[in-house]
Amino acid sequence: MATQLTQAAANAACWSCGQAASQLFCEACGKIQPARSADYFSVFRLPRKLHIDTAALERDFYKLSRKLHPDLFARATAQEQEWSTEKTSQLNDAYRTLKDPIARTAYLLELEGIKLEEQSRNATDTARQSGAEKKQVVPPDLLEEVFELNMQLEEMRMNKQMGEDDPGIVRDLQEARTKFEQKMNDLTAELQGHWTEWDALIPAGETEPKDQQGRARVRNLMVDLLNRRSYIRNLLRDVNEALA
Ligand SMILES: [Zn+2]
Repeated sequence: MATQLTQAAANAACWSCGQAASQLFCEACGKIQPARSADYFSVFRLPRKLHIDTAALERDFYKLSRKLHPDLFARATAQEQEWSTEKTSQLNDAYRTLKDPIARTAYLLELEGIKLEEQSRNATDTARQSGAEKKQVVPPDLLEEVFELNMQLEEMRMNKQMGEDDPGIVRDLQEARTKFEQKMNDLTAELQGHWTEWDALIPAGETEPKDQQGRARVRNLMVDLLNRRSYIRNLLRDVNEALA
């Protein structure tokens, strides 16, 4: 389902009783509300913070899923049945995205107007001089390791073609895999540090940061980190393919 990023009014008037109604149901009369486009955080009535209590998120997800279950709308109007189906699908998308740390971060950046693929494509143009045939830019701190790894991968491929065995190369690649897996873990820890910075920018009772400078700064840190992470993930995929 397409992501809809308009900022829906949190409390539009209920179509049935006219009272202020939240995203899913009207608190006053309990009627299901029209399927407005909504960001995934507001589906769960959460501020756009990145540290999320995923156990609470799961409980909310099941609670809301039960309230939206089609069986409960068997005697409702066709319109209400349609809304319940649409909202169920919106709720599923929101839950799937928010429960996953990387998907959640990428989604927040999307809300901030950043498409990560675009980012890495632009970056590639500015750093093509590395000589690597990668679609993505090589993070500067990895240049040497990536250069070495590409040679090892090439050698491994040639060995395979010739039907030769070189335990030395296999061991080198296994070591490289361990090293890059460690880097992935380091990046995850680093990302959580950025989450803390981001969350601190959101004042109590607000859903978004007010400090625009801080917002841009932390946003850029997260973009850079996710790009580095996807670069390393691709390297690991190459290594695993070579070792398979
Ligand atoms: Zn109502």
